[in-house]
Formats: sequence, C-alpha cells, structure tokens
Amino acid sequence: MSDLQQRPALTPCGGSNEHPERECFEVIDGRPVALTTRLTPTKENPRQGLPVERFLPAKQRRMVGAWCFVDRFGPVDISDTEGMMVGPHPHTGLQTVTWLFEGSVQHRDSLANDVVIEPGQLNLMTAGQGISHSEESPTERPAGLHGIQLWIALPDHDRDQEPAFEHFESLPCLKLPGIRATVLVGELGGVSSPARVWSKLVGAVVTVTEGAGQGANAWLPLRTRFEYAVLPIDGEVEVDGQPLSPEHLYYLGLHRDGVDLTSQRGARFLLLGGEPFGEELVMWWNFVARNHDEIVTARALWNAHAPLFGRVSGSVAERITAPVMPAGVLRPQQNTPSGQSPAS
Ligand code: MN
Repeated sequence: MSDLQQRPALTPCGGSNEHPERECFEVIDGRPVALTTRLTPTKENPRQGLPVERFLPAKQRRMVGAWCFVDRFGPVDISDTEGMMVGPHPHTGLQTVTWLFEGSVQHRDSLANDVVIEPGQLNLMTAGQGISHSEESPTERPAGLHGIQLWIALPDHDRDQEPAFEHFESLPCLKLPGIRATVLVGELGGVSSPARVWSKLVGAVVTVTEGAGQGANAWLPLRTRFEYAVLPIDGEVEVDGQPLSPEHLYYLGLHRDGVDLTSQRGARFLLLGGEPFGEELVMWWNFVARNHDEIVTARALWNAHAPLFGRVSGSVAERITAPVMPAGVLRPQQNTPSGQSPAS
C-alpha cells in the first residue's frame, strides 16, 4: 500500500511524553483516502478506485506503540473495477503488515518476491534502508476485497538494515472462553507470532464469539506497560462495556491488564498495542525518518531511480513518482493529548 495523496502532509510523530496517566477510551475518527493510480472515482463511475479509511496517523494521536499507520480497505465488490492497482513505490524506515479478510492481492518487490496473499496469511515487508513494491489485484480473483495495511516504525538502531520480506501461510491463535485471537505480530496472552519485529508490540485479529461475555466472562489479557487501540472489523462488540462503531479507532491507553469483551452476535476487531515509541520521528508519503533532510534525500533518490530502492518486475500499474514536498521544514514532534491540535 502506498500513500497516494497528491499533497501528502508532513507528519511528525513519536515521542513518549504525552500518554494519559490512566487507562482511557479515546475516540479517533477515520478519514477516507482515495487509493488508485489510474482510475479515480468520477460522477459517471463512482465505483472506480478503492475505498480506504485511514485511522493513523490522526491529529490527536500519531502512534500506538510503534504502529504509525493504519488503513482499512473495503469490504468492496471489485468485480467490475480494477480493484487494488498500486504501482511500484518505495518505503524506508518501517515494516508493512498486510492482512486480508476477503479477496487476494499480488505483492511484488525489488527483492524479486512475487506472492499472492489470501485471507489468513500475513505479508510482512521490512523496508529498512530502502525497498520498493507493488500491490495489485490479480486478474483471477474473488469479487470481494477487504483488508488492512499497517506500518510499524523501526527503532533508530534497526532502521538502516537490509530490506526483507516474509510471507506466512498461517499464524498462531490464542483461544480463550468466547475469544479467538490470531496473533499477526508480537505476543498476546502467551502466544507469539513467528514474524520478526523490532520493538515490543502486538497486532492481532480478535474474533469474539456469539454470546461472549453473557454468563461466563470473555476476558482478553493485556500488558500494563503497553498502550493499546482497537479497530472494529465487523459485527458488534463492547470493550469494557463500551460499544465500538466501525468509523472509529479507539485508543485505550496504558495500565490495563485486560479487557472484558461482550457480544450478542459475534464480532471481529483488530488489536494493536506496544510499548510507547520513545523516539521522535517524521513521516511523509511512504517514508519514515528522523528529520526533514532524510525525507528530502529519500524522495530525490526514488525520483532519480537510484539503486537503493531496486526495481520491481512484472507489475501492471505504473511506477509512482514521489509528489512535491510542501513548503517549510518539518520538525519532529510527539503525540499531543486528546482534544488538542498538534502545533505544526
Ligand atoms: Mn507500500
């Protein structure tokens, strides 16, 4: 996935000072972003393009642990559209996590990986110092497409590593009364994903069974030193008595040793968590860096076809040129408390 906004904002994030003293329940609005390279929605054909909602980075909260980017796409019928058509584009300083609930996506990258991902599988791409990839709906594919793409910021110590790509056919599952949680990355309730990450975190898809929490408790264990957020996928669920609505990401703060889950007809949600990311960083377009000059350099190298980002073979969609950077110098910044606008 690529940030395909024509005028992407410079986004400072990170820092560890601005976390609530107590557990909380902070509502973060998603915002629609267009994701297409060739066909943008028109009055005549409003179904062109792929509907994507972005939940992080948000104004009031830039990151949750090392998680710095949260996109949810679909559910959408792509049978008479081009579907996902994201041509070759670069990344630096991050890992991308791709997970589908429905459909299929073909990933090709500059390390010569060519993989079709399907529901239940994980793509984990470590950009390190630089990689490029494309993500496209294959010609032969189901009608539906529904999934998430997440970015994990790499700690400073590990961000200049060689790029890597891992595909997992299946992942471990935490089973508790009323709960099944597939652990995509990190650790939850003693169950660890084999996917390699570089900070203490968790990403899991939690399925709450029908009637959970009515009678016997459905309790999901958490770590008090992690901050957490939950993103509804489908169904209806209450987290510690608070009903979730699909248009929001919910930030739960730190200091929780678990949450009670209740559901009448069953639900799925994404759980993200991690130790607060103690470093300041800046994000622009598809790059995660530490300062403005690094972004300028990465952008120039990509647009000059520099060897750092390699070459993607076999993709259908066009290579994406990095957009013009906005005026001004980006300064790294931390999370801001809820209800306040960032100073940038
Ligand atoms: Mn991407």
